[in-house]
Amino acid sequence: MASDESRLSHPDPSRRQFLKLGSTLLPFSAVASSALLSTAQAEAPAKNQQKTRAKIVIIGSGLGGLAAANRLHRELDGAKITIIDRKQEHNYQPGYTLVATGVWPKDKVRDRNRDFIPSGVEWVQEMAIEFEPEQNRVRTESGKTIEYDYMIVALGLQLNYGAIEGMDVKAIGDNGLGSVYYSPDAAEATWKAMDQFRQKGGQAIMTLPNTFLKCAGAPLKMTFMLDSRLREAGSRQASKIDFYSALKNIFSVKVINDEVLKRWRGLDIPVNFEHQLTAIDIAARKASFSLPNGQIEQREYDFIHVVPPMSAPDVIRQSVLASTEGVMAKGGWLEVDKKTLQHKRFPNIFGLGDINGTPRGKTAATIKKSAPIVVQNLLDVMAGKSPSLEFDGYTSCPLLLREGAALLIEFDGDGNLTPSLPMIEPLQDSWMAWLMKYRLLKPAYLSVLKGRV
Ligand SMILES: Cc1cc2nc3c(=O)[nH]c(=O)nc-3n(C[C@H](O)[C@H](O)[C@H](O)COP(=O)(O)OP(=O)(O)OC[C@H]3O[C@@H](n4cnc5c(N)ncnc54)[C@H](O)[C@@H]3O)c2cc1C
Repeated sequence: MASDESRLSHPDPSRRQFLKLGSTLLPFSAVASSALLSTAQAEAPAKNQQKTRAKIVIIGSGLGGLAAANRLHRELDGAKITIIDRKQEHNYQPGYTLVATGVWPKDKVRDRNRDFIPSGVEWVQEMAIEFEPEQNRVRTESGKTIEYDYMIVALGLQLNYGAIEGMDVKAIGDNGLGSVYYSPDAAEATWKAMDQFRQKGGQAIMTLPNTFLKCAGAPLKMTFMLDSRLREAGSRQASKIDFYSALKNIFSVKVINDEVLKRWRGLDIPVNFEHQLTAIDIAARKASFSLPNGQIEQREYDFIHVVPPMSAPDVIRQSVLASTEGVMAKGGWLEVDKKTLQHKRFPNIFGLGDINGTPRGKTAATIKKSAPIVVQNLLDVMAGKSPSLEFDGYTSCPLLLREGAALLIEFDGDGNLTPSLPMIEPLQDSWMAWLMKYRLLKPAYLSVLKGRV
């Protein structure tokens, strides 16, 4: 693989365009450069801090939880803010696809939560195990009861690997088994399996379940990158890549779905629709798919990429906070209003990030746009007003095609494309979109997390 600098020193038309228009690369460059502000600047209290004695509990210290904590800490004077989460390591999950395809080392996606929690915010290093919103309290695993006036639920989602019979996350990396989603180690191990596979090639199987997903583009990125890695190694002709989708499509936004399918036809990647991965025999390298008519189809493989079904974590799914009707009830997603992100039945509770029962947008980009909205709406409610801001469901995803090229797709909650960078055509290969993913988005992510944008 090329080093960072040699990769970036090959000018192509889009790079020249980037250099010329670099100063207009907004909002990402603004986000990235704001990451360079000093801690003192970033932690400075807001000019018109709202005085309060309110107790605010934030569940989860992922991107959503920390973004909310940092913003509230800056906006409020006198509040008691508590974060509940046992997790010590902070993972930059959007980098997993780069780790799993041999572009980044895994250290680039590992940080420490304690470096991002503002001083003065209490951190209860335990998991929440029970919600009692009627009493405004939450219980933790050691039996503590924590009371609140307001709560932000930001505990992400649950990867249900257990729904695939025979699946063992500890085996990721062995016997041609890959899965980018589980952890930095799993992403690295996925690259190990992919790298071994590409030495000789063979039969690859890529999967997609029928649930809402975080970064629904990740299974597609892994497929494009596998194809590209095989071509680089000269083993593509000796290989077959088959994509198995449990759905009737591969992406919920039609124009992107059609574009990717068109590209895959050109790359000779056939798609089997309505085939759901239900079981895997890791040692024998066999996958079983269930079909709508109840039949089971078995396939042998040399390399497989497993994407698990996803849902709200059980602690929400089994609580009164979960959605009670419609498509969101199935995954037990948090029952929020899709515009204000306020809980529909408990107005002192807001949801932020992957946990939300909103139609699209389980991405870091969604949190970038919605964290300021959630915080402002909470401040409104604390001041006795109605939530004043509305979220449009924005999400975005640099869809990796190969090293040096990606598509930057951005869309709203209704599935309309909403390109924000004039020099990037959403459906055209872009070196700039690649550069953003490779270089700019981690600083941008950290900026969001620190509540600076
Ligand atoms: C492979 C992959 C690729 C991605 N690519 C992109 C991309 O290109 N662009 C993009 O914008 N986004 C991408 N994302 C999505 C993005 O990373 C997530 O949407 C985002 O990190 C979600 O943040 P969150 O705060 O909602 O959840 P998380 O960051 O997952 O944090 C949830 C936190 O809640 C904690 N928690 C869980 N249960 C409890 C409990 N009971 N009590 C207390 N705490 C609890 C967890 O320990 C965790 O710290 C990708 C994700 C993955 C996995």
